[in-house]
Amino acid sequence: MSESCIFCRIIRGELPSTMLYQDQQAVAFKDIAPIAPVHILIVPRQHLESAAETTAENALLIGHLIRVAAHVAREQGIAESGYRLVTNIGKDGGQEVFHLHWHLLGGRQMRGLG
Ligand code: 5GP
Ligand code: ZN
Repeated sequence: MSESCIFCRIIRGELPSTMLYQDQQAVAFKDIAPIAPVHILIVPRQHLESAAETTAENALLIGHLIRVAAHVAREQGIAESGYRLVTNIGKDGGQEVFHLHWHLLGGRQMRGLG
């Protein structure tokens, strides 16, 4: 947990969000600045900086996050049409919030990789 981290604050309910999924390990809420018709953030409750900061202890959690993403994609009706899961790492990766998360992007054709 981190006092000032935006995503920790959303998880604690201190900042508003459109929460779409919650379980003991993970939450999913709408991105505040969507770049696709479906743009949802899949976020562990545990504060980990990025996918590069994980250890063997986090392996099950990371698998769980991918499964949550697939579940939310089905709920959003984009499982058939397909979607993209992205996690940004560090400056050149375009990471702005240093709390591990996956972007679930769908509802339009994704092109290129940035
Ligand atoms: P990153 O660039 O770190 O991979 O992605 C951070 C994402 O968090 C961005 O897409 C940004 O729009 C989103 N974001 C930043 N602040 C907030 C916020 O306060 N609420 C929500 N719902 N999303 C946020
Ligand atoms: Zn955090």
